Amino acid sequence: MAKALAVMTSGGDAPGMNAAIRAVVRRGLDCGLEIHGVFNGYEGLVEGGECIRRLKWEDVGGNLQKGGTFLGTARSERFRTEEGRRQAVSHLLDRGIDALVVIGGDGSLMGAHVLASEWASHVRSLGRGMPVSEEEEAEAADVAPLQVIGLPGSIDNDLYGTNMSIGADTALNHIVRALDDLSSTAASHQRTFVVETMGRHCGYLALMAGLAGGASWVLVPEEEMEVRWHQKMIETLGNAREIGRPHQMVMVAEGARHPDGLSIRSEEIRNILGTRLGADVRLTVLGHIQRGGPPTAFDRILATRLGVGAVDRIVSQPDVPHCHMLGLVKNEIEATPLAEVVEKSQRIWKEIEEGNYARALELRGGTFQNSLRLVKTLTRITPAREKAENGSVLVLTGGADSPGMNAAVSVAARCLLNQGVSVFGARDAFPGLIQGNILELDWHELLQWIHGPGSELGTGRYRFTEEDYPRIAENLRKYNIKGLVAIGGWGTYLKVANLVEHRESFDAFNLPMVLIPATIDNNLPCTEFSIGVDTALNNIVDAVDKIRHTAGATRRTFVVEVMGRQCGFLALMSALASGAEKAYLPETGVDLEELLKDVHVLKESFAGGKRLVIYLRNEHSSRHYTTDFIRRLLEEESRDQFEVRTAILGHVQRGGIPTAFDRILASRMGSCAAFALLEAMRESKIDVQVLGLSGAGVSSSPLSQALQEMDLGRGRPKRQWFMDLMPIAESLAKHGPSHVCS
Ligand code: ADP
Repeated sequence: MAKALAVMTSGGDAPGMNAAIRAVVRRGLDCGLEIHGVFNGYEGLVEGGECIRRLKWEDVGGNLQKGGTFLGTARSERFRTEEGRRQAVSHLLDRGIDALVVIGGDGSLMGAHVLASEWASHVRSLGRGMPVSEEEEAEAADVAPLQVIGLPGSIDNDLYGTNMSIGADTALNHIVRALDDLSSTAASHQRTFVVETMGRHCGYLALMAGLAGGASWVLVPEEEMEVRWHQKMIETLGNAREIGRPHQMVMVAEGARHPDGLSIRSEEIRNILGTRLGADVRLTVLGHIQRGGPPTAFDRILATRLGVGAVDRIVSQPDVPHCHMLGLVKNEIEATPLAEVVEKSQRIWKEIEEGNYARALELRGGTFQNSLRLVKTLTRITPAREKAENGSVLVLTGGADSPGMNAAVSVAARCLLNQGVSVFGARDAFPGLIQGNILELDWHELLQWIHGPGSELGTGRYRFTEEDYPRIAENLRKYNIKGLVAIGGWGTYLKVANLVEHRESFDAFNLPMVLIPATIDNNLPCTEFSIGVDTALNNIVDAVDKIRHTAGATRRTFVVEVMGRQCGFLALMSALASGAEKAYLPETGVDLEELLKDVHVLKESFAGGKRLVIYLRNEHSSRHYTTDFIRRLLEEESRDQFEVRTAILGHVQRGGIPTAFDRILASRMGSCAAFALLEAMRESKIDVQVLGLSGAGVSSSPLSQALQEMDLGRGRPKRQWFMDLMPIAESLAKHGPSHVCS
């Protein structure tokens, strides 16, 4: 087994790198490894001395929420030379380091691969063989390999072998927020903005931000441009102006290219649009702002999972010579050989350089391709001039509101209106449907909804009575409704199931229906994430970060209560992302024995010098051991050693502008619902489908399957993927006399 492990960051910095370092350090220490931090990337590795230092548990405390990398990063010319790498090897050998975790982009991972491949020859040339066993010692040829694990750290999300790299989600949210800010000034002045994002070799940021921000045109390096692409762009933007689109946004990735391979400069687009469209066009180059700031909840969780995964692989597979990158593939942590990661990541760019765009797109994967298709669909759709004849569609947003619901309504309805289908919305969901409080949705209004929080249609919780069914049937007939999109949570799913149960009595219920999961509780079947969850998680993490900032002179324990109903997703994931010491979940419950243990650990921690402890409590983790009960218990037992405070976050969690992830998910599901309904209506099918996001992307399952997967007694799905992350949260935020920082 490896004895000493070094961790380093290299290349461009990315928000979330600190979270990855924290995870590697703490998991490594927990597994009994000696941990070293390499400062300043490969330059530090070549330099040695003070650049390679032992790290302790508390050295990584308090940096989970910080952007950049506390180890520093640099580009190193010396490491590119064999001599430089030999020096690096000698520094590692001096310290007995036999495992290395490198967090960085393709260049850094290439460096790690080269180091691992040359390791044995450098060791021999330095006369410092570390024989693996006695027999091999006799041969004196074999040298124990350096265990190398790379973690993808790049805001560009340009690495093969992972769906997301550390930092990309934060960068994306920066861009989307910038687009929101620009939208208001653009709308006020009827301006067109050209926005340039980072991504020299990859269009991920421009594409996804364009999708989330409702851009009018997106230019990415992976797409083959037609010779007269600017003519098309001008036509599309001109059409959008004609239908009254209030403002226009053109997203350009740094690496976008003309058909002849020359790069498209954003100034060029500004000039073309200014002269040809006669518009007031402004250019915004977002630059390094995209890299900065605290990492999002997603980046912290991803980095933590990858960091833990790296140590676990090194420790649990001592006989495997590791030279892999760990990535997030279909929501699981998977290893890909470093050589393959580097070769395929660089191959995408080579394919682009050689004009093989289709191949480049294929290598980027299905989500990228589907998103490009969707963004193009959404930028080009306009209201149809002629009405379709096979009926209208009703959209409703049920249950509690959830950030991103508006985007789902907007995209679904616009896709349907584009095909000539009239779309109606039920005010406040089922009560509106029963009372006939139904409005026809207008294209122009829908355009404004994409960014907004809450639900423009209004939501409502409601329990059906027998008198409601004939009224619903009557209203469905009155508006010629032949398809239903229901966006909501647990209650909405059950209400749609009620309608299906009454199909025999009411023929009007024999229509195709699509359910879109939207609830911050993430308690729905057939999906890993529901719309709104990401915003809520970021709201909680943001609040906990602020609570941390208040940790001053006084020693305090905070019990922070979060939503989630019978599902512990928000409590567990926000504990993981914020470094909270404990999460009380409904899945595991709370008992007195555990609370007493917590009291004991708390006392020891504060006696050992700890200043702040954060407990996250799901609102329904226990009926009797409430947030206030826990506060009083801890206060009584603290014997003035520390203060106890509570923070019940309440509706703050569901507020605010939806994050990029929620808007993208909403747009993907909204369009999927629209196209599924169009097909069903064309073919007179009456299926009821439930949409979900799983490893394979957005997919649909029959309602009957969703109902089977719901644990109706407990109010959550029978299988909850995130519970597997519980041991990670517990092990990293351990506290007690020996671990005094979170
Ligand atoms: P990123 O990791 O963000 O892609 P770079 O491409 O600048 O950043 O690479 C970071 C560092 O990795 C380089 O400064 C260099 O020290 C090392 N590196 C990159 N490519 C190689 C290579 N082919 N051989 C050895 N080291 C390399």
